[in-house]
Amino acid sequence: MDLYRIDVCRSMTGCRRAVSEVKNIIKIIEEAFQETDFNDKRKRVIGEKFKQHHLFKVGVSGCANCCSQPQIKDFAVVAKRMPVYNKELCNLCGACVKACREKGLTIVKDKLFFQKSLCLGCGDCWSVCLKGALKPGEENWRLLIGGKLGRHPQLAREIGEIKDVEVKKYLTEAINHILNSSSVKRPADILSLLDFSEK
Ligand code: SF4
Ligand code: SF4
Ligand code: SF4
Repeated sequence: MDLYRIDVCRSMTGCRRAVSEVKNIIKIIEEAFQETDFNDKRKRVIGEKFKQHHLFKVGVSGCANCCSQPQIKDFAVVAKRMPVYNKELCNLCGACVKACREKGLTIVKDKLFFQKSLCLGCGDCWSVCLKGALKPGEENWRLLIGGKLGRHPQLAREIGEIKDVEVKKYLTEAINHILNSSSVKRPADILSLLDFSEK
């Protein structure tokens, strides 16, 4: 039996809202667990006492809607793609402004303004732009750590944005932190002491 579980949203089987491909991320996550020998090493610590809360839960969501509940996973990534704007193609129709539920786009005095800090990279804006003035930008992943339910539920900490090639590095660090701790607590509790703040 695996001592980890990967919960993936429907983007794996084709959700039209997905802003990034998740298959490669799943492969990277599986590799991290295999290469660290997580199952065998963790079984040696937990042994016969295994309970559901010992599972290392990983969440992967293909867009900001977070259907795989990354906020309550020990380690999770959420796809994020901010729009890229070409003002030469824009006719200021306002469709993107209406489509953005985060109020990240506004038109003031014949100019379209984008507020990066509000953007979740959900793709709603470029999907309604008939002029092609908004296009999907680079693929990033929001990294969330330490979410859990149980007796003392807590939402995961939002660590920052990473590239898909960095997912393995951060997950391996989280796995090794758990393996080195020899603790039988929930993974989220063990990870609460892991400092990713430099990200
Ligand atoms: S998180 Fe986004 S991509 Fe994944 S199933 Fe939900 S709506 Fe679709
Ligand atoms: S939807 Fe496209 S064309 Fe319309 S205002 Fe937005 S960027 Fe410009
Ligand atoms: S990607 Fe989503 S949140 Fe960002 S500006 Fe477009 S509609 Fe708004």
